[in-house]
Amino acid sequence: MAVGSAVEKLNMPVTAAKGVGPARAAAFSRVGVTTVGDLLRYYPRAYQNREHVRTLAEIRGSINAGGTGRSEPVSSVLAVASEPMSRMIRRGMTITKIRLFDETGTCEATFFNQPYVRDNFRTGAQFRIWGRFELEKSRLTINSPVWEPYVEGGDLLPIVPVYPLTRGLTQKAVAQSVAAAISMTGGGGEYLPEEVLSRLSLPTHSYAVRNIHFPESVEALGAAKDRLSFDELLLTSLSLSVSGGRRNELSKTVVPKTDTAPFTGAIPFTLTASQKRAIAEIGADLSGGKVMNRILVGDVGSGKTVVAAAAAYFTMKAGYSVALMAPTEILATQHFSDLSALFDRLGYKCFLLTGSTGAAKRREISAAIADGSVPVLLIGTHALISPDVTFSRLGLAIIDEQHRFGVMQRAALAEKTEGVHTLVMSATPIPRTLSLIAYGNLDVSRLDELPSGRQPVDTFAVDESYRKRLNAFIEKQVGEGHQVYVVCPAVEESPVPEKGDDPLEMADISLFDLIGPDPELPMKSAVEYSERLKNELKNCRVSFVHGRMKPAEKDAVMTAFARGEIDVLVSTTVIEVGVNVPNATLMIVENAERFGLSQLHQLRGRVGRGPAKSYFVMVSDSKGEKAKDRIETLKRSRDGYKIAEADLRQRGPGDILSENSVVRQHGQSTLSLIRALSDSAITDKVTECVTRILGDDPTLEKPENEKLRDRVLAMAKRSSGTVN
Ligand code: ADP
Ligand code: MG
Repeated sequence: MAVGSAVEKLNMPVTAAKGVGPARAAAFSRVGVTTVGDLLRYYPRAYQNREHVRTLAEIRGSINAGGTGRSEPVSSVLAVASEPMSRMIRRGMTITKIRLFDETGTCEATFFNQPYVRDNFRTGAQFRIWGRFELEKSRLTINSPVWEPYVEGGDLLPIVPVYPLTRGLTQKAVAQSVAAAISMTGGGGEYLPEEVLSRLSLPTHSYAVRNIHFPESVEALGAAKDRLSFDELLLTSLSLSVSGGRRNELSKTVVPKTDTAPFTGAIPFTLTASQKRAIAEIGADLSGGKVMNRILVGDVGSGKTVVAAAAAYFTMKAGYSVALMAPTEILATQHFSDLSALFDRLGYKCFLLTGSTGAAKRREISAAIADGSVPVLLIGTHALISPDVTFSRLGLAIIDEQHRFGVMQRAALAEKTEGVHTLVMSATPIPRTLSLIAYGNLDVSRLDELPSGRQPVDTFAVDESYRKRLNAFIEKQVGEGHQVYVVCPAVEESPVPEKGDDPLEMADISLFDLIGPDPELPMKSAVEYSERLKNELKNCRVSFVHGRMKPAEKDAVMTAFARGEIDVLVSTTVIEVGVNVPNATLMIVENAERFGLSQLHQLRGRVGRGPAKSYFVMVSDSKGEKAKDRIETLKRSRDGYKIAEADLRQRGPGDILSENSVVRQHGQSTLSLIRALSDSAITDKVTECVTRILGDDPTLEKPENEKLRDRVLAMAKRSSGTVN
């Protein structure tokens, strides 16, 4: 099959797959599946392993040994002993009982409200039954089992996928549609050379696609998962390089090396050694004749802004304008208020452009940047990349918290800044071993120390029994005029299973378990929780902010908090990329077991910013060694990199990449795959592959990389992320 036609097929609407009509297509579109390629990527959330058939005697034995009265989910091949019996037990409720047997014993299956099963279960017919068996008064029973007609030597799947569903989709419908998409496309074309696959011992792409949906065996499923995670990571990191990185491009903007004394004289502190080093690296890039593509990574509070300001200063001094883009209005505003004072002293003009900038001000700004005779620093949100903003003589684009912007927004910026030096800033310490995957071919500058004089934040872990004392502590802090953050995990919506579908809890292979550790513990939602706190804390002004609020609403709440109009802010992790509120002295994290170490560390960085003593309290009912280990790591270390490395050891690369990097813009299916990555073998392979490919062909322009390039561009297109 020609590659072109394979790609075309992947882009066809779902209705092109056999058996997918308009109604099913409409249901699929609700879960974001609109093309045949999307169907291939609609990965199961779990699997039922029906491969190993047990006899009834074995099942009975396992229940007796287990002591819970119930078996694990198992399959068994059973024949119907006698005519099924149906009866109405009350209005609208029928039960059907069927006696089943094999050569080792008998059991009774009960079906609720499925009178039609009578017509299928003819005496003597054989079925593969899957579910949890129970012992009731030494009789073996099973409720609402999954059943499939069994033929000796037939082709029942050994491992059955369990898909996430939505209204209008059943397990059967999804499986059929996916199977149709696979047979139509062969699973999508291979784009990696044979030689690479065998060197990294990875299966082919089409094998992986077939086996992620309909695994031949547990081993095949593992190999499929490895290959597809490998693909997602590889394409993600290459898409960064291709959309943002133009490593060897010559620059039209040469910023000569300049005396830094006026700049250092205008800031109210002495630069740290790593700030000096980063500024020197940037200075060398700007004057070097090639386009800069650099990322500045440093913990919250490590002082990235002043490094960016130095870069802006060099550039403006050479007569070019600078754009600084931040992911939220409040961050842009904060940068503006910090930097406009500094650049005022240095004799340069700053502007702020956001969604709420008025028309008159917009016109003034447009005129100033289009003129270009006087360099300016334009600070703003993604309003900066709107089409009516045209720079003349733009020399440098700075992007704060780049992972908050979608690939498309970054691509739009890249287009606007063709040939322009680019500096991105990130507060996410990614372990060095993962940095190539997370940052692509960007050059990296690291701020690995905090400015001196910061006082450490006292870190505690408590359980529910401390609730009263905790509330009293909040009131004490507020009484002293301070402010408090309360952080709850974001509640992920899970699709509701349709009636008649296999219950998901019966899945026994859950490679893509999206829920973190201890799923049993109840979660506190920000909204409910803030209601409760409002009642409990009579003397505090309590408000909340969460990820599903509109950006303008979020900004309004954050601004009110920053102004001191709110005492206690309950939030989901939106404040991770938050604001600087030096008056906040206490942060409480609920369900702390649900957060990664690095996330907790970043949250902690939100307090301890002012002169007053600050506290970080993790609330969790999770017992267990792992939880204790995590707390200890956080108590001991204040170094984001050390914590990230510990996080990597404790949870594996999947969680870290999916939480912290660009990976998170690439949709739910990618996320679950990447999270399923539990060891570093795959990330090592990706790193090796990226190094080789980019070392040889950084922009993927060589003919042998054409297929790969197509894939990378297709991926960048799919993940048109938004700011959030
Ligand atoms: P981040 O890296 O999180 O963006 P910021 O740039 O906002 O950190 O800096 C945090 C705070 O530290 C700011 O108030 C800034 O003025 C201050 N700061 C930055 N560098 C230094 C330094 N070398 N010495 C003292 N304070 C500094
Ligand atoms: Mg910052």
